[in-house]
Amino acid sequence: MTALLEVRDLSKDYPARDGKGVVRAVSNVSLALEAGQTLGVVGESGCGKSTLARLIMRLIEPRSGEILFKGQNLVSLSAPDLRRRRRDIQMVFQDPYASLDPRMNVAAIISEPLDIHGIGSRAERKAKVLELLDLVGLDRSAAAKYPHEFSGGQRQRIGIARAIALEPKLVVLDEPVSALDVSIQSQILNLLIDLKKRLGLTYIFISHDLSVVEHVSDDVAVMYLGQIVEYGKAAQVLHAPLHPYSQALVSAIPEIDTQKKKQRIVLTGDPPNPENIPPGCPFHPRCPHVMAICRQIPPELQVTQDRRAACHLYREGPGGH
Ligand code: ADP
Ligand code: MG
Repeated sequence: MTALLEVRDLSKDYPARDGKGVVRAVSNVSLALEAGQTLGVVGESGCGKSTLARLIMRLIEPRSGEILFKGQNLVSLSAPDLRRRRRDIQMVFQDPYASLDPRMNVAAIISEPLDIHGIGSRAERKAKVLELLDLVGLDRSAAAKYPHEFSGGQRQRIGIARAIALEPKLVVLDEPVSALDVSIQSQILNLLIDLKKRLGLTYIFISHDLSVVEHVSDDVAVMYLGQIVEYGKAAQVLHAPLHPYSQALVSAIPEIDTQKKKQRIVLTGDPPNPENIPPGCPFHPRCPHVMAICRQIPPELQVTQDRRAACHLYREGPGGH
């Protein structure tokens, strides 16, 4: 079975602020996602999650790598082919205030993608907007209102309605609940889970909050300084993490039960800086298990059964140290 989405060795640099160096925002990221699955992407602020999302959306150009959607490389598609493909991949943004145009009413916001792609007659688009409002749990009277008339959670429902208007296959959700009150977060998460089932969607769910990701993900990728350092089934990555960085992240989330007795792992050393990535393993200056090899040789993302961790502790598989 071909994956719905496969990303191979994707990298993106930005010029550094000092004008001299480079920011390695995303480095050699590879992942694969079957239709109907949710891949959670976690990591601290600045580790490259949004850059990865924008690359997959083709909003920015990669330095290198491939993005295969149903086996077709989006990086080398011609403009008209890419335009057609864009329908299949939509995005929900973190900030439901900034991502909705305040001058457009809700009907115009939700039907804009339909207008752009020339789908349906005016009357059909109007009917579709009402159907989408029903789907995301908003009253039909919302159609004539403007974004400022809604709460944060309602605005995110509008953003979600817009994202699913074109009946996409894949939805990239970039911190979709991070800007919302905790009490509202679970409502939006439940809506996303419900829509996924009803519409047969596939999600990439980005969050810095592991307890949110745990709730929705089949697989989880942990990012550190632009790289995936651990990747596997959500239950394993979040409950029995292999990589010392994943272990530290998980240890900081009280709601997640792990197989080991939980002790908060406090990371020391400098916070990660993508303008100055350490040689060897990028995590080595903060790693409680650092070895000589870690300072020199970057660990590969090893495949061991279903699990992958980029860590020299696991050169011969889990427990091999
Ligand atoms: P995250 O979403 O995980 O917080 P981002 O993908 O936004 O991380 O950022 C990754 C790194 O790339 C950060 O160091 C950030 O400052 C840098 N970066 C992101 N976008 C740009 C840009 N347009 N220009 C320059 N640097 C950028
Ligand atoms: Mg981000």
